Amino acid sequence: MRILLVEDDALLGDALQVGLRQADHAVDWVRDGVSAETALMTEDYAAVVLDLGLPRRDGLDVLRHLRAKQKTLPVLVLTARDTVDDRIRGLDAGADDYLVKPFDLGELTARLRALLRRAGGQPAPVLAAAGITLDPSTRQVACGGRDVELSAKEYALLHALMQQPGRALSRAQLEQHLYAWGDEIGSNTVEVYIHHLRRKLGADAIRTLRGVGYAVPKSGPQP
Ligand code: CA
Repeated sequence: MRILLVEDDALLGDALQVGLRQADHAVDWVRDGVSAETALMTEDYAAVVLDLGLPRRDGLDVLRHLRAKQKTLPVLVLTARDTVDDRIRGLDAGADDYLVKPFDLGELTARLRALLRRAGGQPAPVLAAAGITLDPSTRQVACGGRDVELSAKEYALLHALMQQPGRALSRAQLEQHLYAWGDEIGSNTVEVYIHHLRRKLGADAIRTLRGVGYAVPKSGPQP
């Protein structure tokens, strides 16, 4: 999933970027509130990790502006402000979850998984469709009961499709999930990953909808 990280502290931001990438997210990192608003208006993110104390524009203002624009993507707020009033203000401004610094990176990635799961309308921790199961906490994928080894990009692409089985995502939307700023994108990489996934999961695991994109069917081949 593609995540926007907004954090002005260089050390913490760097650690978070590394941690989120290790969890197979594509991460764009900005360090002030104005850059965050620009990124949110121009790019398509699965979630935002948002510090509140930011230069140029406060994190709460960024959050209010985002919600005023009817953007519903999940926002996980990070803050050193740990009074109850601050938490209430953050939640009232539209935060979906809240972590007080210092926090554990494992807890942050777990909370993010929960937010992404709920945003995708998948209440169960393990995603299942078309005879495939995908566990975001362990990144294990199984098909027809056997474990399948996927590369990081193959996994990210399958995860995006399995968030909403039956819904097609275009090549451009899938590229948004796979790549952060500065990543080099080959001209047909999505097609190549789809080809690899079909080879590993079966030809029917991912449907091509001509002119629309790709989808994991809701129900798969009967066992
Ligand atoms: Ca800060």
